[in-house]
Parts: sequence; structure tokens; C-alpha cells
Amino acid sequence: MRLETLAVHAGGAPDAATGAVTPPLHFATTFRHGPAGERVDGYEYQREGNPTNDRLREAIATLEGGAAALTFASGMAAMSALLESLPAGARVLFPDDCYTGTRVLCGEFLPQRGVMSAAVDMADADAVRAACADGVAVLWAETPSNPRLKLCDIAALADIAHAHGALLACDNTFATPVLQRPLALGADVVMHSTTKYFGGHSDVLGGALVFAREDALFERVAHRLHVTGATMAPFSAWLTLRGCRSLPARMAMHCSNARRVADFLAGRGEIERVNYPGLASHPGHAIAARQMRDFGGMLSLEFRGGREAALRFAGRLNLFTNATSLGGCESLVEHRASVEGAAPVSPQNLLRMSVGLEHIDDLIDDLQRAF
Ligand code: PLP
Repeated sequence: MRLETLAVHAGGAPDAATGAVTPPLHFATTFRHGPAGERVDGYEYQREGNPTNDRLREAIATLEGGAAALTFASGMAAMSALLESLPAGARVLFPDDCYTGTRVLCGEFLPQRGVMSAAVDMADADAVRAACADGVAVLWAETPSNPRLKLCDIAALADIAHAHGALLACDNTFATPVLQRPLALGADVVMHSTTKYFGGHSDVLGGALVFAREDALFERVAHRLHVTGATMAPFSAWLTLRGCRSLPARMAMHCSNARRVADFLAGRGEIERVNYPGLASHPGHAIAARQMRDFGGMLSLEFRGGREAALRFAGRLNLFTNATSLGGCESLVEHRASVEGAAPVSPQNLLRMSVGLEHIDDLIDDLQRAF
């Protein structure tokens, strides 16, 4: 079956008890035992397992083509569960351009407990190979990356990781499985902030890991989730499952709107660079065209007039709300450096845009007025 069909039906079998066509929402924290203390219906306690979460896990695993998925309270909880299951002495390589939380987790938190890390330009296979020579347990990819929309070649990174006995994990938040399926390209684990496109309406926090194999790694991370407790709440799982149904349809419009916005902005003299993988001028365009079905709804722009020009432009927009996050129906614009804490790494002249589902002519009018 095609992805659009899977998105509508995966994890969506009618409720066995009532025949309800849409999934029931189970809030129970505890489930009855049998006379010998055994589980009678497969569940025991919500932190360890919940039927609504299981439906979402099935849907996300199906869409990513994985063997199994785990869901978490947030994207960062998902990432932490995987990376914190590494033993002291292991080494993680993470992208030089990536989500701030990833950089802080890998660059600061993991070393505090003896897991080493280094930032690498994942678009440069030679640089990745050289970094692997000092040892690697997990190669962490994020493509397209946040906020500069850098691309890396997932299949090439998988080969490098596997040649060094390492895992390739890929943050697929920006692309979603609609546009890119890292497991089919050789990745071992896919991570999502389901807060973004999966939820799709800026009203539910969540995260997921999808595993190529239901193996010892899966068991280790599932056990960690059970014990440390960053479980996705049932209502969040239910909302996110509902988001799955329209994910392909929404992604199609996010992509077509973003392409038009990128084309418009690329023609403006005030802007030094538009980072959008769909533009032929983008350094990762060829890789994107090969490994993605379309180029996504995210872009960033760098202003010739520096920080002031960027902030002025963001302040003049009406339809694009100045707010963090991405992947909702509404268009957002954000000055990344302002939200990156005490030591920002994003260029001061950069704005990131999450292009929403408004009519494209209204979005272009808003941009035009703001110049
Ligand atoms: N990965 C990417 C690419 C993100 O953009 C974000 C959040 O913005 C995260 C991970 C973290 O996800 P969450 O905010 O759901 O913890």
C-alpha cells in the first residue's frame, strides 16, 4: 500500500469492543491482573504500555517502514532515551548544524556522564570518516538540518557508520516519512519530534523513535523509557495519531507553499541567502532531489542588513507569527539566535520560517508588505 493509504489506516483498526471506527482514548493508568497476577489483556501500567500509545507506535513504525516504534513525552525525551542508553566511553558524532537541544545534549550533557561527542559537518563524507577514526558508537544525522537546512547523504553516512561498527540515527523531524524514509536508506534508528508535522496543529508535544530491528537496542531503550518514565500521555498519543491521517496531504501543501516562498525570497536583493533544498542553488539540492520526495515546508533566510534587518522584517510580518517551533497549519517566523540561550550559534542575520497552510498569495502579500 502507498504511504497516503497507510497514513489513513495504520494503527486504526475499529475498536474490538464497540466497533467504533475512530480509535478509543484510554486514560487508564492501571489494568486488571488475572488470578495468578498475570496480565490478562497485555497491559499493566500506563508508564509501561497503553493501548492508545500502541496504536500511534504502530502507525509511526508503519509510515517509517520500521520494525517497532516507541513514543515519548517530547522529541528531546526520545533523543535522550536513545543516547543516554550508551555506556560511558562511547562516542557520538552530531551535526555542526542541528537543533539546539541536540547540541546541548550531545555537547554538554553526555560528556558529563562519560559519553564523548564531537560536532561534524555531516555534509562532508571525508570529514565524517576522519572523525570516525577516533571511535564512534552513534552517528547522529539531521537532514534537512535546523536551522540552516543543510543536507547529508543518509545512505553514505549509513555505510560509514556501519564500516565502523556504529549505528546511524537520523532526526527526520523536518522531512517526515512522507518526504524521506531514512531506514530504507540504511539508517538504524529514526527520531521524530512529533510535536511538529506529525501533530500538525501546534497543540501536542511528543517524540518517537523508530527502530529498523526489534533487537537488543530496542529492548534496552524500551526498558529505559519504562523506568525513567518520559511516557507520552494518552491524549497526546490520540491527537498525534489523528495528525497521522492528514500528514501526507498537509506535507504536500507545506511543500508547494514553501517552494513558492523560497522562489519569491530568492529574488529579493535584501536577502543574501535563502536556505531551501528545493532551490537549484542550494549546495545539497542534488542529494535532496535523490533522497527526498519533495523539499519540505521549512526554510531560512540570511539578510544582507544583519541582525537589525532580520528582526525588523520579522516584526513587520502579520500572517507569519513570530514564534518558535514548526510544522503547524499556521506560518511561523523566528530569529533563531534569540532563542538559543546564552551562547547562540545561528547567524544573527538568520530568520527561520515554517511555511503553513494559508493561501500562498496571502503569504506572498505578507512578505512583500514587510520589505
Ligand atoms: N529535533 C528537531 C529537528 C527539532 O526542531 C526539535 C524541536 O524544535 C526537536 C528535535 C526537539 O523536539 P521537542 O521540542 O518535541 O522536544
